[in-house]
Amino acid sequence: MRQYDFVVLGGGSGGLAAAQRAVEYGASVVLIEPARLGGTCVNVGCVPKKVMWNAAHLAHSLQDSPAYGFEFSKPNHNWSKLKEGRDNYVKRLNEIYLNNLAKKSIELIPSKGRFVTAKEIETEQGDIVQGQHILVATGGVPSLPNIPGASLGITSDGFFELERVPKRVAIVGSGYIAVELAGVLNALGSDVVQFLRYEGVLRSFEDALGNLLLKNMQTMGIEVVTKAIPNRVDDSDGVVLTVTDGRTFGNFDCLLWAIGRQPNTVFLELQKSGIQVDDMGHIVVDAYQNTSVEGVYAVGDVTGQAQLTPVAIAAGRRLADRLFNSQHERKLNYEIIPTVIFSHPPIGTVGKTEAEARRFYGSELVNVYESEFVPMFNALTEHKPKTFMKLVTAGEEERVVGCHMIGTGSDEMLQGFAVAISMGALKSDFDDTLAIHPTSAEELVTMR
Ligand code: FAD
Ligand code: NDP
Repeated sequence: MRQYDFVVLGGGSGGLAAAQRAVEYGASVVLIEPARLGGTCVNVGCVPKKVMWNAAHLAHSLQDSPAYGFEFSKPNHNWSKLKEGRDNYVKRLNEIYLNNLAKKSIELIPSKGRFVTAKEIETEQGDIVQGQHILVATGGVPSLPNIPGASLGITSDGFFELERVPKRVAIVGSGYIAVELAGVLNALGSDVVQFLRYEGVLRSFEDALGNLLLKNMQTMGIEVVTKAIPNRVDDSDGVVLTVTDGRTFGNFDCLLWAIGRQPNTVFLELQKSGIQVDDMGHIVVDAYQNTSVEGVYAVGDVTGQAQLTPVAIAAGRRLADRLFNSQHERKLNYEIIPTVIFSHPPIGTVGKTEAEARRFYGSELVNVYESEFVPMFNALTEHKPKTFMKLVTAGEEERVVGCHMIGTGSDEMLQGFAVAISMGALKSDFDDTLAIHPTSAEELVTMR
């Protein structure tokens, strides 16, 4: 039996970050990971998705360019070439991660791990490793609905394996992945039909963001079917989706489920360690990422806390700071989490929505400032997607507690405003900041 200060299960965003930080403090670390290093984000998430988003962005720029005087015949898009470049980039990242582990003397066991006791992990080869501290960072997997024929559809994992652009694709879901991949496929030439259970997309965000996005998706040619609860899938006419009210939609060559993700705990045999999970199977942790078992911790998607790469990384690093560098109170503050949805146009949001702020602070203490406009870039173009921005303030001093925007550039604009909001900026601080002209961002410091 081998013994380590830190045994890390999962070489994705959270596991790698924790392992690397721990070793910097002199801990002996073993990382147990059965697949390619980098986890969801690098292999089937943020990174290849952003490459596809970049391609879609270029497609839109090409559409807009005649308005700026460019003349050319209709460009072709070569999906295979894009996929090859994307896959090669991801492989390079896998190698960089592998080299970094070697450089930092982090031992890698290419295997799944499972609990034998709360202190011992067994690998698929039957080896037992013992850890003074054990971190579970095994992430999540896409959910499929429990209906007949569901396996005729693919998930985001399958999206990244597509060898050619689907001609006609059904996308089920209304969250991050559904709107992001609908936008990409639409821009790269698919006929996209998007199925929503209710009337809107991104329903947990500030209302105006989802409303404006939906309008824009429809303007771009995405067909949206509302109040559609999937009931059955068959392959009688291409892929056919039937919804609970009996409506049937067919002739799809691809159906993509984007209805959320579930924790990846199947192989872990958590019951042998006594680790508590919630109703959805997520590992329950306290504010310090402690599980219900002493010496066992969890970070990232497997905990069900904001399922974002920087969240998993930050939680992993802070845990290592606490365990191996005596920073006893170090923990992640989950209150203010900036996030971007790489839709078309992109959405950036941080802090409380208006509705959340009114509930939290009391309605009378909340003020909102909004601005809606066509960005200057689109003054010349035929397609005129609107930008919308909103600030939510609380208290008499008007602390900015929420910033929400949809529009070109929101993805890059948000980070700086997230710093200001994390520091507790007041509306008067925004007002006192000189604008940068002509930009869309200047609207955020000139709102009245
Ligand atoms: P993961 O990165 O999933 O890593 C878990 C690792 O554990 C995997 O490598 C897995 O092989 C391994 N594992 C599983 N079981 C075991 C076991 N028994 N033993 C050992 N190892 C095991 N987030 C963003 O912030 N921005 C984005 O733009 C973004 N885009 C996304 C796009 C898509 C399509 C998807 C699906 C997700 C996206 N995310 C994005 C979310 C982000 O990818 C995740 O939040 C992040 O990867 C979670 O990190 P993690 O360390 O918790 O898990
Ligand atoms: P989300 O949680 O974002 O959205 C899934 C949505 O699908 C639900 O909100 C629900 O919306 C709908 N839904 C749920 N069950 C069903 C069902 N049975 N039939 C039809 N619709 C259903 O999950 P995603 O899969 O899009 O993404 C998973 C997570 O990955 C995200 O939450 C995010 O944390 C992360 N991610 C982050 C990205 C980024 O940072 N840019 C990009 C991609 C993913 P409704 O209630 O309206 O029906």
